[in-house]
Amino acid sequence: MKTSIATVSLSGTLGEKLDAIAAAKFDAVEIFENDLVTFNGTPADGRNACRELGLDIVTLQPFRDFEGMPAGQRERAFARAERKFDTMQELGTDLLMICSNVSPESLGGIDRAAADLRELGERAARRGLRIAFEALAWGRHINDYRDAWEAVRRADHPAVGLVLDSFHILARGTDLSTIRSIPGDRIFLVQLADAPRLQMDYLSWSRHFRNFPGQGELPVLDFMRALQSTSYDDALSLEIFNDQFRAGSAHSVAIDGHRSLRFMMDQLGTSTLALPPRARAEGVSFIEFSADDQDAPRLEALLAGLGFRRAGQHRSKQVTRWTQGDINLVVNREKEGFAHSFNLVHGSAVCALGLAVGNAAQTFERATLLLDQPFHQAVGPGELDIPSVRGVGGSLIYFLDEASDLGRVWEIEFAPTGDTGNEAGLTRVDHISQSMQYDEMLSWLLFYTSLLDLDKVPPQEVADPGGLVRSQVIEAADGRVRFVLNASQSQRTQSSRFLSELFGSGVQHIALATHDLMATIAQLEKNGVRLLPIPENYYDDLEAKTDLSPDRLMALRAHNILYDREGDAEYLQVYTETFDQRFFFEIVQRIGYRGYGAVNAPVRLAAQARLSSPLPR
Ligand code: MG
Ligand code: MG
Repeated sequence: MKTSIATVSLSGTLGEKLDAIAAAKFDAVEIFENDLVTFNGTPADGRNACRELGLDIVTLQPFRDFEGMPAGQRERAFARAERKFDTMQELGTDLLMICSNVSPESLGGIDRAAADLRELGERAARRGLRIAFEALAWGRHINDYRDAWEAVRRADHPAVGLVLDSFHILARGTDLSTIRSIPGDRIFLVQLADAPRLQMDYLSWSRHFRNFPGQGELPVLDFMRALQSTSYDDALSLEIFNDQFRAGSAHSVAIDGHRSLRFMMDQLGTSTLALPPRARAEGVSFIEFSADDQDAPRLEALLAGLGFRRAGQHRSKQVTRWTQGDINLVVNREKEGFAHSFNLVHGSAVCALGLAVGNAAQTFERATLLLDQPFHQAVGPGELDIPSVRGVGGSLIYFLDEASDLGRVWEIEFAPTGDTGNEAGLTRVDHISQSMQYDEMLSWLLFYTSLLDLDKVPPQEVADPGGLVRSQVIEAADGRVRFVLNASQSQRTQSSRFLSELFGSGVQHIALATHDLMATIAQLEKNGVRLLPIPENYYDDLEAKTDLSPDRLMALRAHNILYDREGDAEYLQVYTETFDQRFFFEIVQRIGYRGYGAVNAPVRLAAQARLSSPLPR
């Protein structure tokens, strides 16, 4: 099927929008009339711009308040339509999209609407044009696609067809089964949008909160499955009204849009691209820090304090490998290459993640087909070319597997040091938390879930002393890979301050697992690691809320441990102090617990805010 997007979805002038749409490899575009009105050129210029970019124009939209008008206004509506037909012919599109009438003056009745559509269809056909009718969820008389279809069916004219818009249908929760009985050739256009579930009027919800399929909570796939049985095979067009998208970069929003369509068709089994399957995320192979010569010794001292052992030295680079349990942390202090350029921009921070997947080459191929950004750099002699793509904030995600030499990266690229360490019982990476700009969140959500076999859980709002932080978990079913994405619209939250410290989005904290937090803490204390102090009040509150024994409470209090319980499951957490106000480690012990201690997050955020420098302004 042809992929398309409505110009209304993107920021910029019509020219900028079309460039972004073509660069994102769409086949076609819906021209939103306002974009044409404000365009610095004639409709014919718009037509030429599209032709040069290789974009078909699927429709001119919207045409409003047409059907069911009383005498007098009815003639004016037809005259308006004729002028649109003129524009369409100049623009080079044969389809006018009509939204159901919202005018209080309009009259109801399917037959009246059908008669109006039929007459307009007749006029369109004389010019070789067509019209398509859409039920707006807030239409005055027609607000259900089944009524719109009935009007189109009764109009009984080859130039009159139906528009199905997933938002209008799914927002109202309309039964989808009627779609299956509509002949595919009577559907002239399909518009797609997802949205979060919100309690508000349809109009505001639609105009501000639509997002790309897979980014929201509407059953867009169910809609598509119903559509599949009609054998419709024309354009799938994204029509997204979203305040963030219209304020964002047209290029990246367009790429997100096309990625969402490709991912959706892959899920439906209708993609012609033969995408390899979503990669099974089997674990975090490594986390790489870029550090300058000043920061590297302090970072390595912190890692040693956490019980890591400097296990390997890169054979040709200033790169060290630190291990404990199944965890690998890499400290890169090279003066050239990716990590160094990252360091110049962001300072010492996590510059790359290595993910263990079933098949690294296939994962990379899938990423490329999903329009993710591949990354290549020169590989020295004896080094592995590890497939990678750009991740959050200009960082990299490397893919490693056991099937190829990539599984032997430590052996191949690193010389063992024989060093020992003060092991603290850390076993694996539990989760990685990334802070980002608020408007990037939907983008990275789609990136991770389209590429990897990870699922989203409903987002949460967490209170920070500087404002609210939105927190979105993405995790593998077996918990082997877990990401927490955080963003805030306030400039004063820890999450936002991190963005300004780092000059961008990135990894703000790494949670490491232990089977015995008390034993781990004993070792960390011996190693001189400073943990985040938790206020006494937290423990008084915990005492009031739980039936923990006095001994247990005393131990939690003595060691700054945060505690959560869900049924019989328990979660214990401590945090290191923040490294240069940039990132920190969390140590967690899960006892059958599946969450992330969201109830404790405000306590942690307040404790961190107290320790950090005064809030800006
Ligand atoms: Mg629509
Ligand atoms: Mg955490």
